[in-house]
Amino acid sequence: MTQTRPLVLRNGLLLRPEESDASPADILIDDGRIVAVGPPGLAAPDDAETFDAAGYLLHPGLVNAHTHGYGHLSRGLTDDVTLETLIAAAPWSSGNRRHEDTYLSTVIGAAEMVLKGCTACYDMFLELPAPTDEGMAAAARAYETVGMRAVLAPMVSDYPFFQAIPGLLDALPADLRPQARGFAGAEIGLLFDRLSRIVRDWPHDRERIALAIGPTIPLLCTDDFLRGCVRLAEDNGLTMQTHLSESKVQEVAARKRYGRSLTAHLDALGVLSPSLSAAHGVWLDDDDMARLAGAGATVVLNVGSNMRLGSGLPDMRGLMDAGVTIGIGTDASSCSDNQNMYEAMRLAAYASHLHDTDYRRWVRSGSAAQAATLGSAAALGMPRIGRIAPGYHADIVFLDLGHIHWLPLRNAINQFVQAEDATAVRHVMIGGDWVVRDRALLTVDLAALKPQVEAAVARLDAIGQTEREIFRKLQPIVGAYCSSLACEGHHVHRLAGHAGCA
Ligand SMILES: [Zn+2]
Repeated sequence: MTQTRPLVLRNGLLLRPEESDASPADILIDDGRIVAVGPPGLAAPDDAETFDAAGYLLHPGLVNAHTHGYGHLSRGLTDDVTLETLIAAAPWSSGNRRHEDTYLSTVIGAAEMVLKGCTACYDMFLELPAPTDEGMAAAARAYETVGMRAVLAPMVSDYPFFQAIPGLLDALPADLRPQARGFAGAEIGLLFDRLSRIVRDWPHDRERIALAIGPTIPLLCTDDFLRGCVRLAEDNGLTMQTHLSESKVQEVAARKRYGRSLTAHLDALGVLSPSLSAAHGVWLDDDDMARLAGAGATVVLNVGSNMRLGSGLPDMRGLMDAGVTIGIGTDASSCSDNQNMYEAMRLAAYASHLHDTDYRRWVRSGSAAQAATLGSAAALGMPRIGRIAPGYHADIVFLDLGHIHWLPLRNAINQFVQAEDATAVRHVMIGGDWVVRDRALLTVDLAALKPQVEAAVARLDAIGQTEREIFRKLQPIVGAYCSSLACEGHHVHRLAGHAGCA
């Protein structure tokens, strides 16, 4: 499907999120890049192929700035977990994986994303107890096979979860404490050995499959480890991503452990920079937002996941006011449970309406669309995606304006954010190559994939019985303990009503 000669898309309606506008335009593409954009009738080389884009809204591919490829095999597994009990479920939901499972999990998520108009993602990759070359290669192969761009950040941590939440280990009955040892982070030397080797041997074009570093959650990392991650990223020009201020429990725990907020602590360690994206940021306060803005970091909102896990609603307007670059993500299918960036974009905008009775402070459609394209692109460290303009990669989604979502067409940017749900996606092009044509994925045989995925899940369920039983014992204890911790006084409010606290 590789493009061999110039291609001109004629008479489409071009959506420009950066201008909150749509207007008819022709687009000339050559060698995977956009060469020119102009009014209908745009000059094109004699040998250019023409595609009649009349009846389509053309928008830059959506960029999912936070997901987890390993999580897609766990889609639908739970409907009653908080962030902390989801972490306690990890050996059950994400353990015992072979590299082939990593490939299958990643490929179904990538397939879903491109079918739903998303052309690039930031994948925080997990392999327990520590990432390997082979595991990373399996995930990279999945994105290459589907034909989408990705950043792969191996999630790494060296501090045990049950000690990261003050008092949690002591809250466990004696017979469960040995099980908690399974949640220890890996040894710091082993982690840097593995990371250094992965960085040294990374074979991929960084505009297609980029490598990054993903210290999982600051509370799960020692200070030395965080500093080492920053050095490794800086020395090799890599981006970093972490889960920051996702739940109230994390911020309460940070005050107990560091005597300051997570963001203030990361600032003191030198972690904040333009290369850092912070997933979630639900419980950031004004000072945190100012620090992130000052450092040029990006915050990636995942409102679907925040609602599903009961984490709270992030303050997108507050982040915008502070000058923070904002991206949007879906988070993993184990906590979201789809990879629909239209939905993620809509939820991010709507959540802002619940923060303020003053409608003038609500996030408008153009801002949400910019966050899901250019803002997310900043998190990925890919400066040539997120926009349809000369010099950018030809990552273009064709929405069928004959679809009911677009009847009538009154305001393209509003309907893009408020009405579209991916069902009008007709074609998707990445780097000038067709990946989805007439709603069909051209790169992966989904019918052939289904029995492979079902067999993998059946095997994982059979060998994960012990881990499931341990989780069932841990869930009520971890859930109750963290729930009481989340009821401690705090100056930031992100939950509706009294949130169950007395
Ligand atoms: Zn996540």
